[in-house]
Amino acid sequence: MNTKVAFRLNPDNGFSLLSRICITLLVAGFLMACNSDDGSDDGDILTPNGSLAWPIDCIPGKTCTNIGYPDINNTGQAFNCGAPGYLGHQGTDIGISMEQMEKGIDVFAAADGVVLWVFDGKYDKCPDNNLDCYAPPAGWAQPGQSNGYLVCTELGDFCKTGDCCCFWCFAGGNVVVIKHTGIPGLFATRYDHFKTNSITVKPGDHVTQGQKIGEAGSAGNSSGPHLHFEVWGTGYYELADPWAGECGPNRSSSMWMYKIPWESGG
Ligand SMILES: [Zn+2]
Repeated sequence: MNTKVAFRLNPDNGFSLLSRICITLLVAGFLMACNSDDGSDDGDILTPNGSLAWPIDCIPGKTCTNIGYPDINNTGQAFNCGAPGYLGHQGTDIGISMEQMEKGIDVFAAADGVVLWVFDGKYDKCPDNNLDCYAPPAGWAQPGQSNGYLVCTELGDFCKTGDCCCFWCFAGGNVVVIKHTGIPGLFATRYDHFKTNSITVKPGDHVTQGQKIGEAGSAGNSSGPHLHFEVWGTGYYELADPWAGECGPNRSSSMWMYKIPWESGG
């Protein structure tokens, strides 16, 4: 394979790979109760500049809980100086109950875009004894293949620069990636852990903000039903933190369209 080097890895996973292969492995899915704040308002518009809509049909602190914030700069602190989902967590985890999952909680496109990549069909009640809940053998990663909780894109124009040839592996089991254009600072969004066969979009589909793309589940490397929502700012796997605060890498303005209820404290 003629590939470029770009390798990013969760540090607690002892994966080793040929250095000429471009892979991202995301180990997503640990939920921690880092914010149990249930005081809230109802999500008033904060700024018309934020581009992201809330990506799941639940209200933080009311019908979804255990928000695990990103720690994309590996400081051990979320944007608000509290604990992140876990050290180095790359997205925002939004937890729901198993009961909610069984009823069906919709996941929405956070912004208009085109579906770039989809994987569906993995078992969705992890952790469990099912092989889909486990890490594949060390060093395993194959373009276009899946093994255990890892699902990998084909080898293609997925390098950070947008050229050939890279592929990515995700630990989210059932995964959707949506590419956005024309929104400064927003390249793509990624959604993990869907309920089995609930994904309603396919690569190439144009989606609009708020459109249902599937239902939340607990597929992949997951400790319970939740959505892992990840933002890529300027290129493939260039992680961005949608939350703004004094301890985050994002100290300017939030990428959300709405004032999120728990930001108001109380
Ligand atoms: Zn996560």
